[in-house]
Amino acid sequence: MTPVTAPSPEEGAHRIVIVGGVAGGMSAAARARRLDEHAEIVVLEQGAYVSFANCGLPYHLSGEITSRDDLLLHTPASLAASLNLDVRTGHRVTSIDRAAQKVTIAAGDDTYALPYDALLLSPGAVAVRPPIEGLDHPAVHSLRTVPDVDALRDRVEELLARRGPDGQPQPDDPAQPAPSAVVIGAGFIGLEAVEALTTRGLKVHLVELADHVLPPLDAELAPLLAAELASHGVDLRLGVSAQAVTQTDAPGSVTVALSDGSTLAADLVIVNVGVRPASALALDAGLDLGPTGAIRVDGDQHTSDPHIWAVGDAVEVTQAITGARIPVPLAGPANRQGRRAADSICGRRTTPQAAVLGTAIVRVFGLTAATTGANQATLRKAGIEHEVVHIHPGDHAGYFPGSEQVHLVASFAPDGTLLGAQGVGRAGVDKRIDILATAIRAGMSADDLAELELAYAPPYGSAKDPVNMLGFVAQNVLEGTMPQWQAQDLVEAAATTLILDVRSRAEYAEGHLDGSLNIPHLELRQRLDEVTSVAGGRAVSVLCASGVRSYLGTRVLLGEGFDARNLSGGWLTLRAVHPNL
Ligand code: FAD
Repeated sequence: MTPVTAPSPEEGAHRIVIVGGVAGGMSAAARARRLDEHAEIVVLEQGAYVSFANCGLPYHLSGEITSRDDLLLHTPASLAASLNLDVRTGHRVTSIDRAAQKVTIAAGDDTYALPYDALLLSPGAVAVRPPIEGLDHPAVHSLRTVPDVDALRDRVEELLARRGPDGQPQPDDPAQPAPSAVVIGAGFIGLEAVEALTTRGLKVHLVELADHVLPPLDAELAPLLAAELASHGVDLRLGVSAQAVTQTDAPGSVTVALSDGSTLAADLVIVNVGVRPASALALDAGLDLGPTGAIRVDGDQHTSDPHIWAVGDAVEVTQAITGARIPVPLAGPANRQGRRAADSICGRRTTPQAAVLGTAIVRVFGLTAATTGANQATLRKAGIEHEVVHIHPGDHAGYFPGSEQVHLVASFAPDGTLLGAQGVGRAGVDKRIDILATAIRAGMSADDLAELELAYAPPYGSAKDPVNMLGFVAQNVLEGTMPQWQAQDLVEAAATTLILDVRSRAEYAEGHLDGSLNIPHLELRQRLDEVTSVAGGRAVSVLCASGVRSYLGTRVLLGEGFDARNLSGGWLTLRAVHPNL
């Protein structure tokens, strides 16, 4: 690619035109100004707001971010004053004339052309519109922009006002049923919307086509979120799609028909089933797109035109583990890409774009769920050999009050390289996932995780941090110290091996696998003959609650010559994978 360098002031102002004035676009504009005091920087934004906190929208809906103004980080006037940017809201770029290096802009009834020396595209993504009849009904909302959240808040206020003072329900008044909402799509933003509406006092139904909430999460962690949603009164409909939205007799209220034949009454509906790159402008201009429809860019965000850069939700990135070229619609990559594009536009050395891990996190009431790298489904689909370990340690020392279980799953290549990790829990998930994301970026292995030196005092962690534990367990698995079996192998394990449950009698009585043998782990050394007799030559599949006691049991059995293996993640993971046990 031909680098375009910023001219010196005496050569005349270098005009940088930016399409899209939020995450990627505004990062680029601000960085370009810091690098080039004399450039003319024009930001064109089709909406009424620039530089708004779209990630904060769900928390304004919930009422946690009380002031709407807190979402509006800047205005065109504040950006002119602080960064000398020419920010034009309500200006939509309708076409790019690459040969003449100018864009055409529609602003109200006016249309005009604006030449550029460098053009940066950060148009974001557009919401996927699922094939649902009646989607244009006014009760159907999306949650992507400030006007979207304004409309949702107005509707919620209206519904709550019908209920009496402070939106509180009228006790035992059948004429005042709780207002209800249907959220379609249980992804990150869908879950944030569910939490927000529930917090506001609505009865929420959550409809998801996949068989578990938060589809990017491994299936064995998702039931923890489902239980949390249920405990807050959310009605979860998994494995079904919404088919039609129809008006009821009550003004503004609708019925949502689902693919399983059931119907849900709703006073409002939020649809959030994902996004696709907003690449129509780039396509019309003849820029190269990838197979996913995202704009193809190189390591410094150049498109296939040397005078045009692109960033954010609209572009392809390289997925760090699989190498796939896909869009990853997250704020962090968009902001970093904007900065990098500005460096390139201004002729600076760029840090080539690193492959993207897709590190993401969401709060679901009291739980946090987070993911980084490749999940198991992605690894399987890509044919990448891997070993999965599950652990459920405390977020900090168990003897210090308030310790909460952190449920962690991590995948490792046969050579020990960390490929992906996920976590769910009430505390400490964010820091573990960030450590693990950093570890993947650094190419770390199970050995490296085992040796990480992390800050420890009892209120914060453990001398063997959960991240170290992942390393230890993976080392044991990979070097053969602890052969393991997975919850998904249950049918095969039950048919061909002895299931040895080393939990206490009380735990066993609360629920166990039919046909399993219960020998509490402290009794195992004394009762080996019993194992020999019941196993009758079969291998022994050991389990306990979380995988720790069964690891000890497995080591005892291996030491005595048994063919033994430990259930990864124990009964906790088994129950998540087989909820009907
Ligand atoms: P955007 O920030 O969406 O900006 C694109 C802008 O371009 C839009 O304002 C659009 O109006 C404008 N535009 C498009 N076409 C034109 C045109 N032709 N002319 C003029 N203007 C145009 N990510 C996270 O990592 N963490 C989160 O917690 C998180 N929460 C989110 C919550 C919500 C409700 C939403 C909607 C997104 C969230 N995201 C989150 C995603 C994150 O906001 C995006 O990945 C990021 O904003 C993408 O930046 P971008 O610059 O590509 O696009």
